[in-house]
Amino acid sequence: MAELLRGKAVSDSLSEKTSKKVNELKKRGIFPTLAIVRLGENPEDMAYERGAVKRAFELGITVRQFVYDAKISQRELVDEIVKLNDDEHIHGVLIFRPLPSHIDERVVCEVLAPEKDVDGITAGSMAGVFMDRDTGFPPCTAEACMELLEHYGCELEGKRMAVIGRSLVIGRPVAMMSMRKNATVTICHSRTREEDLRSIASTADIVIAAVGKSRMIKKDILGKNQIIVDVGINVDDDGRMCGDVDFDNAATAAAAITPVPGGVGSVTTAVLMKHVVEAAEK
Ligand code: NAP
Repeated sequence: MAELLRGKAVSDSLSEKTSKKVNELKKRGIFPTLAIVRLGENPEDMAYERGAVKRAFELGITVRQFVYDAKISQRELVDEIVKLNDDEHIHGVLIFRPLPSHIDERVVCEVLAPEKDVDGITAGSMAGVFMDRDTGFPPCTAEACMELLEHYGCELEGKRMAVIGRSLVIGRPVAMMSMRKNATVTICHSRTREEDLRSIASTADIVIAAVGKSRMIKKDILGKNQIIVDVGINVDDDGRMCGDVDFDNAATAAAAITPVPGGVGSVTTAVLMKHVVEAAEK
């Protein structure tokens, strides 16, 4: 049976470092503050928000919640983001997405100042990730994958990595960050031929699954003794939370695997808090 790469140990270790930094900042009269921007009452957003508020409270980080009617106009929302940019007491801003369809998400994202973009949604943050520049922050989930691999001592240098999924939130930034650590990365997506997916996934040392399809990745397309990071958060037909990897099946051949729940997802909020503190330090 594979080693379980649990997120809690990673998140605890990150939180300990963040908490120390919060105390140091407070001694200098700086109170790290995160603004959460939510439109409407999406239960998933609200669940994530509750988790973030709880974690922030434990670490001594202030959270200010800005909740707007889902029918808010694009102009009004842009004006609100500009106010957050200008507010020197707010260090990081998290905007829940997707935004309602009458709002052009790209316009809103681009208004946010990259130095407050603690979840990597602006082009400035992406430039940081893709061009190795110190602007903005990587998307929290992508960085959570990297933190998890580092915590468990998974060396990336020279390793073959298969990233399944090419979204700007996970697949692409994970690939870039891994390449920076000298992994040899191949990205697969929905148009990758099935036989190619199989050969790439089965011969990789490390597989990152970020597809968004319940238990799609099974042992038959994987190799042996691999490290598997399952980013997926899905609900199966029985209403149970599950990942993109068929855990029970894949864990019998893998060297190490992240569980869902209890894997990458539990590291994401800790990374968000780390970013808020880094933004306050800057
Ligand atoms: P997304 O934007 O929908 O992207 C999914 C990616 O998977 C796309 O690049 C898509 O390819 C690719 N894909 C779809 N079907 C495929 C197939 N049959 N074979 C190979 N690739 C395929 O999703 P996301 O935002 O990246 O999220 C991915 C998963 O992570 C979801 O389950 C989401 O819930 C979860 N998630 C977890 C956290 C966390 O904290 N753990 C945070 C955010 C998201 P195309 O580009 O060709 O469409």
